[in-house]
Amino acid sequence: MSHDLTRLALPHIQRLHAYTPGLQPNEPGWIKLNTNESPYGPTPRVTEALRREIGSDGDALRLYPNPRSTPLRQKVAQVHGLTEDHVLIGNGSDDVLNLLVRSFCGPEAAAGLTFPSYSLYPVLVAIEHGAVRTIEFNRQMTLPVDAIVTSGAKVFFLTSPNAPTGVAFGNQQLAEILERFPGVLVVDEAYAPFAQEHAVPLLARYPRLVITRTLSKAHALAGIRVGYALAHPGIIDVLDRVRDSYNVNRLSQVAALAALSDPGYYDAIIGKIIRTRDYWLGEWSGRRGWFTYPSATNFIFTEPVDAAGRSGPDVAKSLYHHLLSRRILVRYFPSHALTASFLRISVGTDDDMLAVNEAFDAWPQSAK
Ligand code: PMP
Repeated sequence: MSHDLTRLALPHIQRLHAYTPGLQPNEPGWIKLNTNESPYGPTPRVTEALRREIGSDGDALRLYPNPRSTPLRQKVAQVHGLTEDHVLIGNGSDDVLNLLVRSFCGPEAAAGLTFPSYSLYPVLVAIEHGAVRTIEFNRQMTLPVDAIVTSGAKVFFLTSPNAPTGVAFGNQQLAEILERFPGVLVVDEAYAPFAQEHAVPLLARYPRLVITRTLSKAHALAGIRVGYALAHPGIIDVLDRVRDSYNVNRLSQVAALAALSDPGYYDAIIGKIIRTRDYWLGEWSGRRGWFTYPSATNFIFTEPVDAAGRSGPDVAKSLYHHLLSRRILVRYFPSHALTASFLRISVGTDDDMLAVNEAFDAWPQSAK
């Protein structure tokens, strides 16, 4: 019966493979390092702002939110030294990515993306029945500048720093693409707060650059769903036409505003996450000898090696299941040779990371 109902959908929707988010267990007791959330809470100003907005009786919730998220646009613009017309706020950066796909991609207008990168992009494109050009990285993860430039895509999605590898691309290379690529280049900077460089300074020179950001990672607000685009006002105008008129709810707007008003708090927790990351990156690639990409993010992409000196998909899978049996959730990506031998581990608290390391030691296949 449900099969018959599925057949009422458009053929390309019938064929669609939905995006699979990382597991979100409901019961306590898990060490959750599978979706790159922050291990630390948001600034206390967020809870204060939410309480204030709800008030004693929730009366404000009767009213629709500010349709353009204007105060938040102004704040984001100020944070980045831009004017408000360069900013669009989304219900998470997924919403912004969706607006970009719907505005610039279709059956005749291909979207470009790299493999690996954020696996939501091809799903959003498939929903629009859009054409896709996929460019594979090599094992070194060097940016394929020429292939991107000549991809024929109308819009190209580049995750920088990349996910799930953690590898960052410099502005010099992004500028090389922007000089020659005739379409819209979307640089998804979900993890940029953990990197040394970001692409915002390039906006002044390149009107076809769109940068997307999120408050889900560095700002510890994944549950609030706020992200944004920074771009030339001409592009923001296009996205505003496609956007739901009330795309960001009232509570999310005030929470995000409060978070962005406390940069000192976030500098401290981001600094802590970077120190934890760099310590364990060194331990696992150094002491254990596991190949690990340099990370400019809040996760580590590492290729485990077993006692027999082997690495590969079976080794990664075995360690994934061993961690799972100890209630440690990480992510692995078995569907492609470039990713199948690796685990992606979000950077947690010191205790979380110690537990992961102890679990590595206790893995039956572990080199002792
Ligand atoms: N881009 C990348 C590269 C991501 O990893 C994620 C989160 N999985 C997102 C965007 C989406 O973030 P948000 O929570 O803002 O929708």
